[in-house]
Amino acid sequence: MSGATLLDGKATAQRVRADVAAATARLTAGGTRPGLTVVLVGDDPASHVYVKNKDRAAHEVGFLVNTVRLPADTTQAVLEAEVRRLNADAAVHGILVQLPLPKGLDSARVLALLDPAKDVDGLTDTNAGALLTGGVGLVPCTPAGCIELMDRHGLPLAGKEVVVVGRSQLVGKPVALLALARNATVTVCHSRTVDLAGHCLRADVLIAAVGVPRLVQGGWVRPGATVIDVGINRLPDGSLVGDVDFEPARARAGAITPVPGGVGPMTIAMLLKNTVVAAARAAGVREAGLFG
Ligand code: NDP
Repeated sequence: MSGATLLDGKATAQRVRADVAAATARLTAGGTRPGLTVVLVGDDPASHVYVKNKDRAAHEVGFLVNTVRLPADTTQAVLEAEVRRLNADAAVHGILVQLPLPKGLDSARVLALLDPAKDVDGLTDTNAGALLTGGVGLVPCTPAGCIELMDRHGLPLAGKEVVVVGRSQLVGKPVALLALARNATVTVCHSRTVDLAGHCLRADVLIAAVGVPRLVQGGWVRPGATVIDVGINRLPDGSLVGDVDFEPARARAGAITPVPGGVGPMTIAMLLKNTVVAAARAAGVREAGLFG
């Protein structure tokens, strides 16, 4: 057993949700009840489970929640008309189009239509651009959750060597930009990186977002480092593991996220937080002071 701090995403997400619920109560008392609409197309079972969880979490914090369910054979034109309708609905502050969309539907075109001010997943080009320029936007939920998890455990990023494994639009790139904005020195690794182990070993903070079970080995962890494992991989026996070989990594790390129960629960919590922020901005309420 090591002394590594376990970064408990479930408990931390619960604290974020409590803050969101308090902010929601304040906004609602002021006449703006945050509204979240989820658009679910087709019958992908995993998507149905995700949407159910988001729906429940959003109800719990006091949002006005609506799920628009569309059949799998929905045309691009119908889906786009639905997004336009939600863009124009003042009671809707956050719109989430559950991905992936069924074959034949173009998610890039749908996202391009989405009002960036309501893009609570932070996936539109406008919000991605805001990350780059330091502008006001909505930050993608999983990367934001990684940073929030460290913040709430008093783990600073300024001056730290942060190594991100993975460069996806969804996780790797945005989390690298967020760490850079916090004055970390950031290295981004990917499938063509030479000497991945060598890069990882230099990390004060190692963030793995790859999608390969246990790729990051314990021996790649610098003693005392913080390890954030974004990966969610289902093994043939049904169990879930991350992108980090947990036990050996835990033996060397100073702090580490478990899988499940680490970054995963933070993602929905940050979606709720983004929705409150979007509602506050729409109502002209100052964000400073929104969360306590
Ligand atoms: P992508 O498949 O979009 O990206 C994976 C990245 O990992 C790519 O940049 C790829 O490199 C890199 N990569 C793949 N193999 C290797 C390797 N052998 N060595 C080094 N780099 C490699 O995945 P996502 O970013 O969408 O997701 C990553 C993981 O995070 C998945 O397990 C996913 O399930 C999980 N996830 C978890 C979430 C949560 O809520 N906790 C939310 C979103 C994702 P290249 O660019 O060169 O191809």
